[in-house]
Amino acid sequence: MKTFIKRHFFWAVVPVLMIPLTVILLVQYRSLRAIEAALPLQRKEAVTQYLKAVMSEVMDFYSDNAERTLGVSAAAIAHRRGGAIQDNAGRTRALAAVARVADHFKQQQFRGSRRLFIVVDTEYAGGHLSATMFYNPARQAMVFDPQAPEMRAIDVASSSFMIYARTGTPVEPHLRGIDRDPNCLLIVKPIVTEEQNIVALTGMVLDSDWFAREVVPKAIHDNLPRSFPADHREAAVTLRFSRDEVVYATRQDGENKPDASMRFMPFFQYYVLSVRVPSLSLERLARRSFLINLGLSLGMTLLIVAGLIMALRAAAREMKLSQMKTDFVANVSHELRTPLASIRVFSEMLKLGRVNSLDKAREFGAYIESQSRRLTQIINNILDFSRIESGRKSYQFIFTDLRALLAEALEVCEPRLRQSGHRVTLETPDRPLSPVPIDYDAMLIALTNLIDNAVKYSRGAEEITLRLGERDGFAAITVKDYGIGVAREEQERIFEKFYRVSTGMVHDVKGAGLGLSLVKHIVEAHRGKITVESELGRGSAFTILLPKKELEQLAPRKPSGELELKSQSQ
Ligand code: ADP
Repeated sequence: MKTFIKRHFFWAVVPVLMIPLTVILLVQYRSLRAIEAALPLQRKEAVTQYLKAVMSEVMDFYSDNAERTLGVSAAAIAHRRGGAIQDNAGRTRALAAVARVADHFKQQQFRGSRRLFIVVDTEYAGGHLSATMFYNPARQAMVFDPQAPEMRAIDVASSSFMIYARTGTPVEPHLRGIDRDPNCLLIVKPIVTEEQNIVALTGMVLDSDWFAREVVPKAIHDNLPRSFPADHREAAVTLRFSRDEVVYATRQDGENKPDASMRFMPFFQYYVLSVRVPSLSLERLARRSFLINLGLSLGMTLLIVAGLIMALRAAAREMKLSQMKTDFVANVSHELRTPLASIRVFSEMLKLGRVNSLDKAREFGAYIESQSRRLTQIINNILDFSRIESGRKSYQFIFTDLRALLAEALEVCEPRLRQSGHRVTLETPDRPLSPVPIDYDAMLIALTNLIDNAVKYSRGAEEITLRLGERDGFAAITVKDYGIGVAREEQERIFEKFYRVSTGMVHDVKGAGLGLSLVKHIVEAHRGKITVESELGRGSAFTILLPKKELEQLAPRKPSGELELKSQSQ
């Protein structure tokens, strides 16, 4: 159960953390989507309000001015009965009847009209005719101008009113926008008596240019900052004539679809105003806060997951290390106990005088010596390792002939080799190698460890090769065996402290897992390298590569030929 929990801890903890985080993210995402969905409505409302504000500003301006300009009193029109100018009135009579209207018009100064006019109904030779007279500002009088381009539009606009005049139909004196002819837009006002009988129709021909270039742009710009305090610079407002002819635009907006459009009413109905605000500040705010929240939540999730993974890895490493240490104690105790037990047996036999021949005594003595050497080596390894771990290990480099080192290593290992029946072939180059700066004792420990491993993991193969040579400018010492070998995936790890190959063919060999880590440390302190070439079941070759010149250059050479260097690592 414990191992199950240990093994599945990660997969148990991840959902515990991930589920609430995912729920939080989902809830946040949904509420932000809801805000986003509501935003277009808010945008529609804002732009519609803006268009209405511009419209009413412009229309109020025209209404007020038209009302005042066209507000001729019914009493100002003379000779009328039921609205018509009587007594076979001709042109002269009609002019005389509206003479006082000019007095009213001359007081008006509305810039938005091109021409002011009045239409009256006349009775002539028993028939009815409408008479249209324009105000002439130069003469300050009403005049006929039958060739005027506006005549047609005025005739069309006034015809229904003239019928009302003849039939005595009551009419409300409201302003009306007449936009039948796009080139001649009019505002007209019926002049009525108290009984609401129409006596004349006053009107103005509108100046569309002034409307499109002055009045509307002013209203557009006045209202923008009021309606979109934070976004008015981005707003694209366009005034179009007859739907597609752009007559004014705050800025180029390409083919973008406007957020809202509105037709001018009741005057200038040929003009349409539209607006597009690329993104409202509220929208931007919501989108930005959504992205920030999303980023933060994802970042937090990542951090938690990363922290969790790191904590789990650290815990796993800790557990593994503690397991390795326990194994180490067990292995070391075993390693110490075995030679000690044989030393005790042989020395007891010697003490009890059970050895009757001198040869036997020599044999026992040699055995005791070899076992105590082994003990010394194990203890030296442990001591060296603890020195390295605590950073107390220092090295003294002396230029040494490596052949001497190899010879001594063989001598140290000789009893062990003899006992196990291993044969060592020593291969050295014919020409002498130049001396290499090494810490003699440390390198001896490294080499004996490699030879010891070659014996331990030989699985009956009695051949061991010890080779001295050169490789890539390094002095190379190779210890080669034909034993169990090391699997490729283990070849790097065997140099870690306490690490022992736990699968395959090594189960029955005892060891502390310190030898190779010690070798690696010593070699690296020499700025060298340790390599392994191995194949499972075929044996291994461990090679120590030692720099020949580098150390010479890096460390000052003492007169005695001794170099001093502190250990590089730890
Ligand atoms: P120990 O030998 O005490 O276990 P080492 O650090 O010397 O510790 O070696 C680490 C591991 O590397 C060994 O447990 C063994 O599995 C593997 N190993 C070392 N040398 C050899 C070799 N010559 N042949 C096969 N495996 C080896």
